[in-house]
Amino acid sequence: MISKPSLKKRLMFRLAHRLPPCKAIVRLDSESHERRLSLRERLLMWMHFRICSWCQRYTDQIKLIRSTASQAKHQAPSQSSKHMPEESRARLKRRLREAVDEPS
Ligand SMILES: [Zn+2]
Repeated sequence: MISKPSLKKRLMFRLAHRLPPCKAIVRLDSESHERRLSLRERLLMWMHFRICSWCQRYTDQIKLIRSTASQAKHQAPSQSSKHMPEESRARLKRRLREAVDEPS
């Protein structure tokens, strides 16, 4: 005999079929970094996350990546020429002068 699914499972199944698909939720999450989502959009995301652990994990990972990239951006040494070693800067100037003075 097959047991009848619990009320909770039946409600989750109905809810899952009424909510936007994962692809739409991921797009909304991406848009949330560029604009403020409407109350309806935030509610849809919240409800989707209640039934879809994959989207919840994915958005958590994206948040972690964004946070880590932001921290690394502030901690990484600048790549600008003002941090170029003086010896390299002098060598570059010398070679540029040579190239300008003696065009091939
Ligand atoms: Zn999902």
